[in-house]
Amino acid sequence: MLRCSEEEGETDMLSDSHRYFNKAADVLGLSDTIRKILLTPRRSVKVEINIESTTGELLCFTGYRVQHNNSRGPMKGGLRFHPSMDEDHAGALANLMTWKTAVVDVPFGGAKGGIDCDPHEMSEKDLDTVTRLFVEQMKDVIGPTTDIPAPDVNTNAKVMSWIMDEYSKYEGFSPAIVTGKPLDLFGSEGREEATGRGVMNVLAEALGEQGRTFPEITVAIQGFGNVGSHAARLIAEEGARIVAVADHTGGVEKAEGLDIPALIEWVAEEGGVLGFAGGEAFDGPQVITWDADVLIPAALEGAITGDNAGEVQAGIIVEGANAPTTPEAHEILVQKDVLVIPDILANAGGVTVSYFEWAQNLQHYRWELDRVNSELGKVMRKAYRSVRAIADEKQIDMRTAAFVLAIRRVGKAALARRHVETRISFD
Ligand code: NAD
Repeated sequence: MLRCSEEEGETDMLSDSHRYFNKAADVLGLSDTIRKILLTPRRSVKVEINIESTTGELLCFTGYRVQHNNSRGPMKGGLRFHPSMDEDHAGALANLMTWKTAVVDVPFGGAKGGIDCDPHEMSEKDLDTVTRLFVEQMKDVIGPTTDIPAPDVNTNAKVMSWIMDEYSKYEGFSPAIVTGKPLDLFGSEGREEATGRGVMNVLAEALGEQGRTFPEITVAIQGFGNVGSHAARLIAEEGARIVAVADHTGGVEKAEGLDIPALIEWVAEEGGVLGFAGGEAFDGPQVITWDADVLIPAALEGAITGDNAGEVQAGIIVEGANAPTTPEAHEILVQKDVLVIPDILANAGGVTVSYFEWAQNLQHYRWELDRVNSELGKVMRKAYRSVRAIADEKQIDMRTAAFVLAIRRVGKAALARRHVETRISFD
């Protein structure tokens, strides 16, 4: 059901994202040249990282950073440590970050990068060394006002701390060089649950426009990691029934609603939902076509495809994961009148609180958790309403509308920064 290899998924992701971009560019009537300008990364940097490991072995890796667009501010995006990391992966993900930061209107562009290493096969000391060599080589192209990395697959708050420490050796105390840091090192309150909270916020807007409330709805969720578990907890706290949850170990369902805090505790101890006694087990992939009002794919890319989209029963899909819906599935869902809240809007809560972290770091000031959550809610709800307004005005689906909004914002900012004789419109 999910695409077989990460490599294949990511390559598809680039062409999927270009297809969505082009659909919106058609709505805006953009020329081929403007499309090329907006899709071409500003800069791509590749560095060699060699170490003698703690086991005495010589190891050679390649580090990447693709900086896609900085028209609206310093570029922002994760660092991924994975053997399949390469320039194409980084490019596809950098591109998405440009549109995501624009949809929620945070003052960033898009970037992504990483190292083609496998942290599971390395000692922590070696990872620390590799991370610091990456920073040493990249320090001239990243920075608090140029490009601000964050955690992604196989990187975490600890790796971000090493980056901050290494960068600060060259540039002086620089907490704003990375986000996703631990609270002890000037991370932000509320960052960990931010993406799940953003999912809850946009769902609240969607329900509001349909005249419905959380206690009336049932929800099925694929993925119970950072995004899925926090979204489940927050949505259940609002009164909704989470009737099915699936992860890589299987699925668990309960028509009266699962006890989410108990499931979170179970998964923390057991590593997956399999065996949870508070519900009945089912075959995980079935969650996509579950009989529920809302479906939240929050696992991997390509979960909803041309094969299963026709069977989807939910009337609302909130894309917690990046690229969970293939373009073929997207068209089927639109035909079925399913409201799909697209990834570049639905899961932008994480980068929004990363922006808050960066802003706090630049001011050397801390926000209380309530402020973070309230500002996040405002940003997510406003973004939803902006996308909805374009969807209604142009009579297009929410995904195309989100790309229209993002392209418009990036294009207008780029135009405003220079003198251009040629008439170009993004309206
Ligand atoms: P995570 O590693 O914490 O959790 C991933 C979850 O997916 C786990 O529950 C895992 O069991 C499940 N999963 C993996 N393979 C599966 C399969 N074959 N079938 C069903 N479930 C499977 O990851 P996360 O941080 O929650 O990220 C999930 C998605 O959200 C990814 O697409 C990620 O890129 C995206 N995302 C995350 C954030 C964030 O802040 N964490 C922000 C934006 C987007």
